[in-house]
Amino acid sequence: MRNGLFLLLLLLLTGCARAPKAQGERAPLPTPERVYILLDAGHGGFDGGASGSETGVREAELNLQVALLVQQELEAAGARVLMTRTGEEALGDTKREDMARRGELLQTEGADAAVSIHMNKFPDRKVKGPMAYYQAGAEAGQALAGCVIDSLTEALEMAPRLPNPGNNFVTRVPACPAVLVECGFLSNPEEERLLQEEGYQQTLAAAIARGVMAYLEGSF
Ligand SMILES: [Zn+2]
Repeated sequence: MRNGLFLLLLLLLTGCARAPKAQGERAPLPTPERVYILLDAGHGGFDGGASGSETGVREAELNLQVALLVQQELEAAGARVLMTRTGEEALGDTKREDMARRGELLQTEGADAAVSIHMNKFPDRKVKGPMAYYQAGAEAGQALAGCVIDSLTEALEMAPRLPNPGNNFVTRVPACPAVLVECGFLSNPEEERLLQEEGYQQTLAAAIARGVMAYLEGSF
């Protein structure tokens, strides 16, 4: 394998690939006023999302708990944060209404990044760990998702993982780079327990916020 290619692969596997800068343009230093994050707690109200195999815990509830902690972390780092929801309720009476309102919020002008928080579920109960999805083909989204999954696997002392391409409403709609974070698997008994612990949620939230800020520091 040629050295350059090897280095590129190594970077893809281990590096938080930042958003490309425009050539010849001097990037200004990031300032808190410039960082504006849209933060979405997935599901809510009538739409509970996935549920825990052992305890029946609703994904919507855990998404909100983690999202509120991410909000705290981002604000502590100097970011402005717009939450799609801060309560248990959905954003409308039907899935259609909810998505329409969520979509509007996720298109808020001037945002630097959009982050949607979810919990995963899979038939094979051994499968565990966080995942970060970007909209397939979105370069900046891929870089953002790469920074977030790097930060998460590092915080959880797991082997590095690549971000995953996908096609989800919450990564498709925003005009800014967007990532859908699956914090862990409610189908894995150990993770189902951990995801309900405040200390674990805090670790996830801090890692997600660090990943987002690392991406933005590289993109301004
Ligand atoms: Zn979900």
